[in-house]
Amino acid sequence: MDATEFRKRGKEMVDYIADYIETIHKRPVYPDVEPGYLRCLIPESAPQEPESFEDVFKDIEKIIMPGVTHWNSPYFFAYFPVAHSFPALLADILSGGIGCMGFSWAASPACTELETVMLDWLGKMINLPEEFLAGRDGEGGGVIQGSASEATLVSLLAARTKTVRRFQLENPELTESDIMGRLVAYASDMAHCSVERAALIGGVKMKNIPSDDKFTARGSALQKAVDEDKAAGLIPFFFCATLGTTACCSFDKLLELGPICNKENIWLHIDAAYAGSSFICPEFRYLLNGVEYANSLNFNPHKWLLINFDCSAMWVKKRSDLIGAFKLDPLYLQHNHQESGTFHWQIPLGRRFRSLKMWFVFRMYGVKGLQEHIRQHVKLSHEFEQLVLQDERFEICSEVMLGLVCFRLKGSNELNEELLKNINDTKKIHLVPCQLREKFVLRFAICSRTVESNHVQLAWQLITKLATGLLKAWEQKDIKN
Ligand SMILES: *Cc1c(COP(=O)(O)O)cnc(C)c1O
Repeated sequence: MDATEFRKRGKEMVDYIADYIETIHKRPVYPDVEPGYLRCLIPESAPQEPESFEDVFKDIEKIIMPGVTHWNSPYFFAYFPVAHSFPALLADILSGGIGCMGFSWAASPACTELETVMLDWLGKMINLPEEFLAGRDGEGGGVIQGSASEATLVSLLAARTKTVRRFQLENPELTESDIMGRLVAYASDMAHCSVERAALIGGVKMKNIPSDDKFTARGSALQKAVDEDKAAGLIPFFFCATLGTTACCSFDKLLELGPICNKENIWLHIDAAYAGSSFICPEFRYLLNGVEYANSLNFNPHKWLLINFDCSAMWVKKRSDLIGAFKLDPLYLQHNHQESGTFHWQIPLGRRFRSLKMWFVFRMYGVKGLQEHIRQHVKLSHEFEQLVLQDERFEICSEVMLGLVCFRLKGSNELNEELLKNINDTKKIHLVPCQLREKFVLRFAICSRTVESNHVQLAWQLITKLATGLLKAWEQKDIKN
């Protein structure tokens, strides 16, 4: 393909994507395929001779689309949203077009510098304390990670290094492995599974802090665990607080947890993967109160801020904590510029020009446009909550804070499992469940950029119709028994 053909095909591809988005509500949100469906549709090996664009293009609808779960359909209410917008898509094309690697300043100065400035912009949008911003000569700063999981791992590893060094200074007789074997990290029992994985990868113990009846981790529970572990000779070093848990969007009590972490020399990392985007609205910013106690903070603009995957924003108060943990200086990466690159802040070496997506989206939506998007989602979740509350066969299972509603039929877990299966079998809407204590619960997450009241109303009609049928069938089963 030469540049002339690229011009033509590029325009066709843009048209195809625009058509896809405009008509996405007409596709079944969940695919009707069995595992392994794709392998039998394509050749066993790559072609020896080149094929034409037309050949490849016509296979998109034939082979790919039948197996796509349409995350951006307005009938998609599963997991959490994955962000999607036209400005971000355009920026992604440009990023691919430039095709640079941004691991050091010299490797692509614009890539490194725009990222630093965009993270400052975003930090100001959520009113982060000055200490987290890079500014012109600050000690903090932000970086784009690929995912919240990476951000948690990076912060855990930085905390590990910092703690080991501190203990070795105080106790020169201790070896690194003596100290490592005694380290213990904490997170609420509602934390995302990636937190536990970070501890596994980091080779340290991780303990769950039992959450309270609102699914919130409290200071007293953390203090108790820390006291017990210190008495047993362990070294508490890391706590991951969750703002907006994946299961039910509950919030750990930062204002209680933060002072304990500071007093005990425990690195406080905040995982606000989903909820973080809402902090750009002044009315939701209180949910971040206590961030001043944290060492690091992360959220995913690729979830709720209209910036296509991947774009996970992470800030630290002291860049030197990260750089100190990961810095190596092989000759092939050295250059004459003072400004060090951001690869010392992450696991991979290579980095894409992801900040272009932020720059395009922030400028073309403006903070006001993004606030409107968040508010629309929160409004719709409360609309759904009201529908649930008006039907006394159902119950709400946790407080609706942002764009997620946890609900279920009053009754057994088996009943609710069957309801969810019946809902998803229609392929008209898509939901996933969660476990809240002993209860099997349905999650209704407002996801798509284009979702409106009528989609939520249609979803509720479908859910109640299926519930009515299901309850009738269960009654008859009971009579027979
Ligand atoms: C979605 C989510 C994650 C995982 O995000 P990735 O970017 O996919 O790693 C972590 N924590 C919470 C609270 C989440 O909701």
